[in-house]
Amino acid sequence: MFTVSVAKLKQAPAEERRYELTGTIRSLPGGAAEPIPVVSPVVLVLTITNAGDFLWAVGESRTTVRLACSRCLKEFAVELAGRIEEKYRLHGAAGPEEEIPLAADDLDFTDQVIESLLLALPMKPLCREDCRGLCPRCGKDLNEGACGCPAGEGDPRLAVLKKLL
Ligand SMILES: [Zn+2]
Ligand SMILES: [Zn+2]
Repeated sequence: MFTVSVAKLKQAPAEERRYELTGTIRSLPGGAAEPIPVVSPVVLVLTITNAGDFLWAVGESRTTVRLACSRCLKEFAVELAGRIEEKYRLHGAAGPEEEIPLAADDLDFTDQVIESLLLALPMKPLCREDCRGLCPRCGKDLNEGACGCPAGEGDPRLAVLKKLL
């Protein structure tokens, strides 16, 4: 899907080409959890430079996914921007380890796009910076207003104990 042809570029030392590709990815793998729904087209902007011995690809992937807020559990849209960098060796058998030997004139960046977006996911997604989360006692979404539970008493078992005393 995110395939570019470098047939001409690989013959042109010191030249660079800019590519902009748009594709559809339905979801990102969620690891042990549910897959993460992707809700907008995925855009890949890539610059590939012929650096003599290797092709140097640098770019950015962008899309929007739906994540659950880590505090209130509500789903919301998050824009992701991932970074891609790859080197493809043109000449000589043995290059530095990070250089991939160029095997074909078409380079497919789909795997790199998915990986870069996964790396761009926030560790603790928040629907907004000051999300108030859910009440630990009754589960009400505190962004929608107070729930009426006594303030400052986190553990319901403690509250029961206090009543007895
Ligand atoms: Zn939230
Ligand atoms: Zn409550």
